[in-house]
Amino acid sequence: MNYHILTLFPEMVLDGLNTSIIGRAVDKGLLSIEAVNIRDYTKEKHGHVDDAPYGGGAGMVMQAAPVCDAYEDLCRKIGKRPRVLYMTPQGRVFNQKIAEELSSEEDLVFLCGHYEGIDERALERIVTDYLSIGDYVLTGGELPAMVMIDCISRLVPGVLNNDDSAEIESFHDNLLEYPQYTRPEVYEGMRVPEVLLSGHHKNIETWRRQQSIKRTLERRPDLLAEANLTKREQQYLEELRREQKKELAISEEL
Ligand code: SAM
Repeated sequence: MNYHILTLFPEMVLDGLNTSIIGRAVDKGLLSIEAVNIRDYTKEKHGHVDDAPYGGGAGMVMQAAPVCDAYEDLCRKIGKRPRVLYMTPQGRVFNQKIAEELSSEEDLVFLCGHYEGIDERALERIVTDYLSIGDYVLTGGELPAMVMIDCISRLVPGVLNNDDSAEIESFHDNLLEYPQYTRPEVYEGMRVPEVLLSGHHKNIETWRRQQSIKRTLERRPDLLAEANLTKREQQYLEELRREQKKELAISEEL
C-alpha cells in the first residue's frame, strides 16, 4: 500500500506515522508514506497558497492551482491516477467497512485541507471520495488522514504480527470485542473469568461471543441490527434484552 498525503504540514503526518507498528511496516516495505508539500506548487512570490473567500466571510481558502498541480505532478511521477480522499467534516463518516474497502487499493491519496478548506473547483476536479472522522470540526485534515491511514494499514497483510487480530476485533461482524485479560490471575482482588483459564477452546469461544453480544447491546445497540448472529446467539440476545427491560422497570419503580 502506498499512501500519498497532500498537505501543508508534511512533518506533522510523517512524525506521527513513522513510529510503532506503522513505522515498522514502512521499514519492512509493506507500506510507503509520502508527504507532498502543497506549498511547493505555488507560483506566488511569497509562497502563499491561500486567499480570502469570494463573497466575503471569515478565514482563508486554499487555492485550487497548487492543490491540483501537486496531484498532477504526483500522477506523472507514479504513472497512475489513484483515488483522492478529501478529509472533510462534510464527508461520509469513516468506519471499519470503508477501511476494509480502501485496504485493497494499491495507492491512495489523502488531501488535507486547512483554514476554511479548499477552493471547490480543485475538489470537483480531483476528489473521488469525501471522508470525515466525525461530526466535529478540526483545524486541518492531517489528523483525520493519520487516523484513516493507521486504521487501513492494520488491514494490510503482514502489518500486524498476527493477521487474525485484525479479524476478530471490534466491528468485525458488527459486534464490539469481548473483554481482554492478561497476567496476573488476580489483581486487587479481581479474578480473571474462570473460563479463560480452563484451556477449553470451545467454551472460551462461546463465552467471548456472548460477551461481545452483551457489550454491544450495552454500549452500541445500533450495531446489532446488522450483526451476523447464529440462531442460538439471537436467542441469547433476546434473553439479554428481556433482562435489560426488567432491570429498567425495577429502576423506574424505585
Ligand atoms: N469550513 C469547513 C466546513 O465548514 O466544512 C471546515 C474547514 S476545517 C476548519 C479545515 C480542514 O480540516 C478541512 O478542510 C478538512 O480537511 C479538515 N477537517 C476538519 N474537520 C474534519 C473532520 N471532522 N473530518 C475530516 N476532516 C476534517
